[in-house]
Amino acid sequence: FLVLGICAVIFAIDLIRMYPDFTGEAILNTFMVAVSLAVAAIPEGLAAVVTVVLSIGVTNMSKRNAIIRKLTAVETLGCAQVICTDKTGTLTQNRMTVVRHYGSDERLLATALALCSDARESGDGIVGEPTEAALVAYAASLELHKSELERLQPRVDEVPFDSMRKMMTTVHSLPTGGEELPGAAAGNATVGRTDGGYIAVQYTKGAPDVLLGRCTAALVDGVLVPMTAELRERIEAENRAMAEQALRVLAAAYRPLAELPDNSAPEALEQELVFLGLVGMIDPVRPEVGAAIEQCREAGIIPVMITGDHPATAFAIAQRLGIADSPSRVCLGSELDSLDDDGLSRAVGRYTVYSRVSPEHKTRIVTALRRAGCITAMTGDGVNDAPSLRAADIGVGMGRGGSDVVRGVADIILSDDNFPTLVDATREGRRIYDNICKAVQFLLSSNLSEIITIFTATALGFTVLSPAQILWINLITDTFPALALGLEEAEPDVMSRPPRSLDEKIIGAG
Ligand code: ADP
Ligand code: MG
Repeated sequence: FLVLGICAVIFAIDLIRMYPDFTGEAILNTFMVAVSLAVAAIPEGLAAVVTVVLSIGVTNMSKRNAIIRKLTAVETLGCAQVICTDKTGTLTQNRMTVVRHYGSDERLLATALALCSDARESGDGIVGEPTEAALVAYAASLELHKSELERLQPRVDEVPFDSMRKMMTTVHSLPTGGEELPGAAAGNATVGRTDGGYIAVQYTKGAPDVLLGRCTAALVDGVLVPMTAELRERIEAENRAMAEQALRVLAAAYRPLAELPDNSAPEALEQELVFLGLVGMIDPVRPEVGAAIEQCREAGIIPVMITGDHPATAFAIAQRLGIADSPSRVCLGSELDSLDDDGLSRAVGRYTVYSRVSPEHKTRIVTALRRAGCITAMTGDGVNDAPSLRAADIGVGMGRGGSDVVRGVADIILSDDNFPTLVDATREGRRIYDNICKAVQFLLSSNLSEIITIFTATALGFTVLSPAQILWINLITDTFPALALGLEEAEPDVMSRPPRSLDEKIIGAG
């Protein structure tokens, strides 16, 4: 409007000067001058500069493993205030190794865990989901090879793992003839042998706190004993002890079956189980994560860990990484359930670790954070994570361990699944935004000089630049310096100042 105003004023001044002898040609000339002013004022190069700067930035990011699917995500990323990240695989290496076990019959425990898993031994190692691969490797270390186990007890039914139930079940038929199976303790008549009248056995593995609730008995030194409060307490204490050492703990149980189940719904199968034992796995944190968390803090970004794992495991790892300093920062999935949406958005600032959560909880957490006014990035890998990625300001999908669905809804994909890559991308986002600001300020200020020049010249009654010359200056002479500004290195303080607010204007106060 200002520009149009100035154009009109210039046009009027010229007409007044012409008075009273108007000629067609003179009016046309005056009109051209007014138009050239408008041309001078509008930064024609801007669209080109912004596009080039964004796309070069995005190309750089993709070389460093962050693939931007929506150009605007770069800008939003520069404003991120909270980054919610999965623990397993993003903060940790997702390379699990069983390092501890609890239970009186280790061979039966390992047999159950290996059979109740979808990983398998192949020529050059073990293929499968890391948690399950660790179990097959563990059994193999006890000379219990999965292919051999499966030959003796072929799988006839299964209920796959899901992160809501936090359990997985398989059913295996037992060989006839009373042959003793590897892994069956001597004298244990209830499993591994068919002379107890059983034709099949079911193995269930899962999160100890969930699985324990389904156990009515336990196998202790080869004898079936009822699950007492005291025994349960002992198992829970063992679970806690392992979890506090940052181990991921899985429990295993079995159930002998006199006939094949005709209802293989999880509710029907996963009950009246016999507890076998626990295993604890280490999943080392990625070495670069600590520094990246530190960087986040300096940049005013709050890192939040979200995991399906046990709160003690989650806290132990969060503490090592500097995400949480006291257990009061840990919120349980069950606590989330007891809060309504208002309560949650009030409470959300207190927590930096969410444990035993399901993918549905992730959506509630992002929504609450956003309601509390935080620009939130959320990572995800599983199919069920898609809604929470969509709900976040910036949805971050995992390129390696992620499903196609999350890659489809994500704004950014981390091709190495690594948390520091996201922090790098944030830095790049801030740099790009800064540089676009520099380019815009340059273009506007040089356009202002053009306006002043032409306005003054016209007011004094002569012409300095023709419209074609002004266009040339704007498109060619101005664009390259603006591009150079757009490609500047990051300022030293990009990651030591708080995130810019989303509604801050490019040309704000001052
Ligand atoms: P995360 O990926 O954040 O660690 P998950 O939802 O994958 O969380 O796992 C939650 C819990 O479920 C784990 O702590 C573990 O006890 C149990 N669990 C994980 N994977 C399996 C599996 N393949 N089979 C059985 N239980 C599992
Ligand atoms: Mg998982």
